[in-house]
Amino acid sequence: MSEPVPAIEVLSAEQVYPNGTRALLPVNLSIQPGEFVTLLGPSGCGKSTLLKMIAGLLEPSDGRLLLSRKPVHAPDADHGLSFVFQEATLMPWATVQANVRLPLDLAGVPRHEADARVKEALELVGLEKFGRSLPRELSGGMQMRVSIARGLVTRPKLLLMDEPFGALDEITRNKLDADLLDLWKQQGLTVVFVTHSITEAAFLSSRVIVMAARPGRVVDDIAVSSPYPRDDLYRTTPEFNALVRRLHDALTDASQLGSATGPLTTKAAA
Ligand code: ADP
Repeated sequence: MSEPVPAIEVLSAEQVYPNGTRALLPVNLSIQPGEFVTLLGPSGCGKSTLLKMIAGLLEPSDGRLLLSRKPVHAPDADHGLSFVFQEATLMPWATVQANVRLPLDLAGVPRHEADARVKEALELVGLEKFGRSLPRELSGGMQMRVSIARGLVTRPKLLLMDEPFGALDEITRNKLDADLLDLWKQQGLTVVFVTHSITEAAFLSSRVIVMAARPGRVVDDIAVSSPYPRDDLYRTTPEFNALVRRLHDALTDASQLGSATGPLTTKAAA
């Protein structure tokens, strides 16, 4: 049998910003279609940098990135990729429908077809009744759902998400995490999700890439075997708690190794 084509290959890709900041030591990573991978680590460990390189928003200073075996920057490649940012970044003067339709308008999709796809995307995120609302009429969680709908409206295979729920309260975040897992399964997506929350990574991931700062690097790659679907009960299981512990230890070890003087603050045992 032939080898499956990886959705993402990161081949010794590294990043030194023009001001000399060494944001990321060389990373090697292969992600298969259908994985839910989180990049977990403290602020400044290069999570966003890696995600932007995968998205083709930032060129690596050395190394290469391939999506389905094609270079990220190949002019003819249609990678079927969407990027969801931490801020919902909606146009405040435009309706929810118009915000979600934007990528289709930019791609010149005829209005009739675009409207049908907007409707479908709003249904996927549970906002079918809010198409005519303005962003300011929605809660923060709903605005994030609009942003996800805008990401899904192009029917991507690969969804890249940079701390999308970081600004939300915990209850809303948990709900969106659960709904995102449903979407991931239902749409057969490959997801790469940035977070600094250990519990969020433990809830979502089929695989966690643990990163450390100063300098930014990958320090661990942990496959999560707990089955899906996962609901709130999963958060109370021994497997979940063991995984949280393991991720916590991996992050703590990495931060101690990463700084010459040791950790600046010693956290009391939680
Ligand atoms: P994270 O997403 O894990 O918080 P980032 O990828 O944003 O980390 O940043 C990694 C490192 O690169 C940090 O030290 C950050 O200050 C630095 N950095 C990020 N963007 C730039 C930039 N455009 N120019 C210079 N340094 C940057």
